[in-house]
Amino acid sequence: MSTTTTFEFKEPPPIVSTAATAPILPQARVPLAFDTPVDLHLHTYASDGFWSPSGLIDDLVQRGIAVAAVCDHDTQDSVLEAIALGERRGVHIVPGTEVTVRWGGRQWHLLVYGIRPDDERPEARGFIDLMDGHDRRFQELAVDARRRVEASGRPIPSVVREVGERKMMPVHILRAMIADKHVPRLKEAAELVVELGGNFTYDTPLEEVVQVVREAGGVSVLAHPGRADLGLALTAKTLDQLLKEAPIDGIEGHYRTHTDADTARYRKMAGARGLLIGAGSDSHGPGAPVDPRPWHANWAKGLLVRLGFEVADPDDGLVWTPGMDPLAAKPPKRERKKPAERQAVTV
Ligand SMILES: [Zn+2]
Ligand SMILES: [Zn+2]
Repeated sequence: MSTTTTFEFKEPPPIVSTAATAPILPQARVPLAFDTPVDLHLHTYASDGFWSPSGLIDDLVQRGIAVAAVCDHDTQDSVLEAIALGERRGVHIVPGTEVTVRWGGRQWHLLVYGIRPDDERPEARGFIDLMDGHDRRFQELAVDARRRVEASGRPIPSVVREVGERKMMPVHILRAMIADKHVPRLKEAAELVVELGGNFTYDTPLEEVVQVVREAGGVSVLAHPGRADLGLALTAKTLDQLLKEAPIDGIEGHYRTHTDADTARYRKMAGARGLLIGAGSDSHGPGAPVDPRPWHANWAKGLLVRLGFEVADPDDGLVWTPGMDPLAAKPPKRERKKPAERQAVTV
């Protein structure tokens, strides 16, 4: 009885991973309407964002977003606080993180869902240890970068304000370098740190991360496949090569910079390979660069089912078609031919 159009793609099966399938969230089988607003990619000030967990939850409540994932870069520091606050306010917070990974000679961002940072199961040990390692390494890089910048005769008193109550991360050093007028932008700040013998980023091979995520029963989704700032946007050919080496569970089909054409392409790519489809704004703060967004639950149905939710189907059976998302990015007038920056600093 479902109607189909040429733009509708078959939803992937709910479970494609061979990883443990025990419920990974306490609120297993929470029913959602097909259009329940969800945002599965959000940052807080635990990494490079500006949302505090409470500010974020307030905003989600105000927008009516019922399910959201806190996915800070390489740390889960805000996850437990956000889950606790969300429980009180009726927002289901999915534990997440966005791990910096390396594959094919470049960095990628891998969203990992469903593993809490306080998970004490032995099968989660590998992932928890990996996260601890990333967290520690980024803090060491920040201390080292600060020392190098200051030793080069560039005082950065603004670092105190940039760090605030948080752990010092490389991005705070880069922002302080801008605030203290040594460089105009993040790009130049990062380049200067590298020039001074330091670094601002760190990664682990994709295969290793996917392995420990699967052991822990988590779900891995390649972030923003259509963005071309870390390298080229993801093509079907690259995805097939990647899947041979690292069995990721899905790709983020719905993303703030994706046009309808991008979304159609990535939904089709995912559907043809039995991959899950993610949906996230990548909001880092109020309007920075966008606010959290009300993606429809059934656009990311397979992923939400894996995470312990039930998602109803719309009466007409239509999942997603171009034009359905009023916030989709508008196509550029001309295709930009800007070369990709290899070590781009991204948010
Ligand atoms: Zn990212
Ligand atoms: Zn992100």
